[in-house]
Amino acid sequence: MKAVSFKGGLKLPVLQTGVDRSIISVPPGRELIVPMKQDLGPECKPLVKKKQMVQAGEMIGESPLEHGACIHAPVSGKVTDVTRSFVHFSGKRMPAVVIAKDGPTNKSRRQDKDSFLDSLFFGGLVDFDKDTVPLAVKLDEAKLNHVDSLIVNAMDVEPFFSSRIRVMAEKIHDVLAGIKTIQEYLNIKQVYIVIDQQYTGLLSDHQTRLLHDITLVPLKYKYPQAIDYLLVKAILDKEVLCTIPCRDIMHSQDIDGLVLSVDTLAAVGSKLVSTERVITVRDSAGKIHENFQVEIGTRFSEILDACSYELDPESRIVAGGPMSGQILADPSMPVTKDLQGIFILDKEHIVKKDPKTCIKCGLCVDVCPARLIPFMISGSVEKANYDQAQKYQLSSCFECGCCSYVCPSHIPILHWIQFGKFEIFKQRSRL
Ligand code: SF4
Ligand code: SF4
Repeated sequence: MKAVSFKGGLKLPVLQTGVDRSIISVPPGRELIVPMKQDLGPECKPLVKKKQMVQAGEMIGESPLEHGACIHAPVSGKVTDVTRSFVHFSGKRMPAVVIAKDGPTNKSRRQDKDSFLDSLFFGGLVDFDKDTVPLAVKLDEAKLNHVDSLIVNAMDVEPFFSSRIRVMAEKIHDVLAGIKTIQEYLNIKQVYIVIDQQYTGLLSDHQTRLLHDITLVPLKYKYPQAIDYLLVKAILDKEVLCTIPCRDIMHSQDIDGLVLSVDTLAAVGSKLVSTERVITVRDSAGKIHENFQVEIGTRFSEILDACSYELDPESRIVAGGPMSGQILADPSMPVTKDLQGIFILDKEHIVKKDPKTCIKCGLCVDVCPARLIPFMISGSVEKANYDQAQKYQLSSCFECGCCSYVCPSHIPILHWIQFGKFEIFKQRSRL
């Protein structure tokens, strides 16, 4: 099939040297921190108490949402704390369960429940995407909308990351099993796997033969290549009208195609309870580029230790990725289901430029793949005019960061947008 693309976005330098780095399992540390909110659904309620013993795979947090995603112990051990004041890398405060590892990390199979969506709910499955929606919610909406096309997204969310392409190359049997399960549940007629056109050669002839009637779609390399709405437009030439109300549950209308990430499908196909994920760890100097399978709750510092990376105190850790991640002050942050990877900004690449006044050059508008007017949204948030920011569709921004990247006035547009969403979320939480 001919390579496809989308409007807007950025052609960044191609530096993905880690696509040939096989996935390595990182052993969990002695103590794991498991936050009770790891997706766009509401906070889970902790089901365990301090000093209680838990088994790996045991449910320790229950979602109050009918089709949310529950949370499980990644390891066996003793609960040493159930705190209410853990601060996630997004800045949100939430409960968390701390477990001191004491025993094996056996994987637990998901239990069959009365309905398929219940088995996903109790198995804790989410779509491992930037907007981490509980999988049962996403499939429920797809069923209601009679979606009949499935797009499997093997494009990495951030530049320099390579975890998804490695999952595609190394876990293809789980991916195909996951596709078959979803196909049967939704009565899907057409399946597409979208892959960066540079890496179609990573699949062996044998793997390509396994795809049978699945269409492999090469996508031209352009950031942000992994956004659901852009893929539906590029492949099906259909619009998806979506709003993501301030990092709350996704609400969408007119869904024509369901997009699921390749690691989500591998998780469905594995039939395991969700307690781990594959992430990329990469630094800006290119000294390190690894794809790690890690237990949820493992601290960033332990992951860096696992690859013998000595963190310079002047470097910065970015949770998520170089374009849209959050800079952290604390390397003890744990891995959660909504983390795509860890990026280290080496001290020589930290550039501080003071923001200047917007010159209305329109560059941010040209690159915005969501077809928004970024300078109007960020300007409204800066003036604390959140109603006006909403009128300019703040909620429809998918936080790719292209606008901030091109702005000649160095205005941190994305950070204003994230701040605006966070403020609106806080206001709604008080209602
Ligand atoms: S790119 Fe920067 S200076 Fe240009 S319109 Fe957007 S915010 Fe203003
Ligand atoms: S406004 Fe949002 S979607 Fe548009 S370029 Fe900026 S971050 Fe990306």
